[in-house]
Amino acid sequence: MKTIIRCGKLFTGLADTAEADQALVIEGGRIVWTGAYAAAPNPEAGDRFVDHAARFVMPGLSDLHTHLSYGNARSEEEVDLYASLEYRAIRSLAAAQRMLKAGYTAILDPATAGHVTPALRDALFTGMFAGPRITAAGQSLTSRQGLYDYYPSWIGCPSVSTGALVRSPTEAIEEIRRQTKEGVDVIKLAMDGIQGDRKSGLYAGFTQEETTAMVREAKRLGRKVVVHVRGREGAMYAARAGVDILYHASRIDNEGIRAAKDMGVSICPSLLLLVNNIEYAQPDDPSYDWWPGINRRELADAKINLRKAYDAGIPFLTGSETGFGITPYGEWSAKEFEIMVNHLGMSTAEVLRMATHGNRAMLRDGDEHDSLVAGKRADFIVVDGDPLADITVLQERSQITDVWMDGARIDLPETPVEIPRHQREASQGFWNRTYTREVARGYTPNPLGMDGMSKVESTIISEAAE
Ligand SMILES: [Zn+2]
Repeated sequence: MKTIIRCGKLFTGLADTAEADQALVIEGGRIVWTGAYAAAPNPEAGDRFVDHAARFVMPGLSDLHTHLSYGNARSEEEVDLYASLEYRAIRSLAAAQRMLKAGYTAILDPATAGHVTPALRDALFTGMFAGPRITAAGQSLTSRQGLYDYYPSWIGCPSVSTGALVRSPTEAIEEIRRQTKEGVDVIKLAMDGIQGDRKSGLYAGFTQEETTAMVREAKRLGRKVVVHVRGREGAMYAARAGVDILYHASRIDNEGIRAAKDMGVSICPSLLLLVNNIEYAQPDDPSYDWWPGINRRELADAKINLRKAYDAGIPFLTGSETGFGITPYGEWSAKEFEIMVNHLGMSTAEVLRMATHGNRAMLRDGDEHDSLVAGKRADFIVVDGDPLADITVLQERSQITDVWMDGARIDLPETPVEIPRHQREASQGFWNRTYTREVARGYTPNPLGMDGMSKVESTIISEAAE
């Protein structure tokens, strides 16, 4: 039985343009024929015909920077501590399905708590649930100074957090071997050092020798290596060591760019978090006084340095850093495309090719679903609008009318945008200020008694009473 899809426009992921009035013919989950609709084979008895003559058909989107275990976290503690790993694993399925509904059929999660994302990857791979194709890292390797060792040394990196603290090259090699045995696809390194007394900003969390040794071992074991790095020094070490992806690389310098070029390293800017934090963080957010300002400076530097790297011929990839409270699942990911066009000066067609074809080089079985041509898996989306003319249409979920994977239309129920929080997660972030008598004088006291209750509180209480 074949499925014949008539496409008003077809973007294969391989060219800069979309062809008008085309057809896809699908059999056994794969594309078996593409070409002009007029030349398409006639449907036979039992074949299915789907008419998208008014729509734009393109490969499913991919995102190389979605943290599925983070649960739209509002703080590092929410990323790492309060919800159990088991709860986070179940929650990550909802996250993955929200991404799929937004048009993302393939995701790379570069840092997860425990074994959450590899487990989700396997559950989805077996077909237990509908969800995107997932490529998974485990915990991010971090030094004492690295991002991911956020907490004071007397807390360290608990086993349920997204960081794995390695205190020596020997421990790092052992951690890489452990994660490889547990089935991660990629090894993640936290290359930015953030906790120290140097005033000059971010510096490398690992030395060149340590970085090179970790990358060599990961590669020996057949893993890809991806790194979080905003700073100059870490970008240079990671590039020299020949990692696969530098995330951010906002302060990469000429030496780093040269090394990246020599070693075939790609850059995935992931600017969405900066841009959303600058545009939308509110004075009541605890980080408002310091973070958006840092983001502004980084964005200004990134525009210059990333453009230099791009002009030098470094391959670019796309991923959004979805999974935080300011970048919730299925809401903003496609804004990263618009940001790459507006802030890095890339063409719309190039960014769309990256999101559909270029990214796949980093994904598990990526060459199976990297374009809409004969032989590939039939993973595609149907868009009401033309993303080549206006890339922002991909941000409107109502304009992504259908998502198909393996030649079958995905039909998922609408899930809440606001991922419900486990009650235990409320154990931090209670107040945004210290209510001295002086401060309290500025407020009218809320009424005592049931009248003053928020909707959420009354729901919890009334349910408990029943
Ligand atoms: Zn990240």
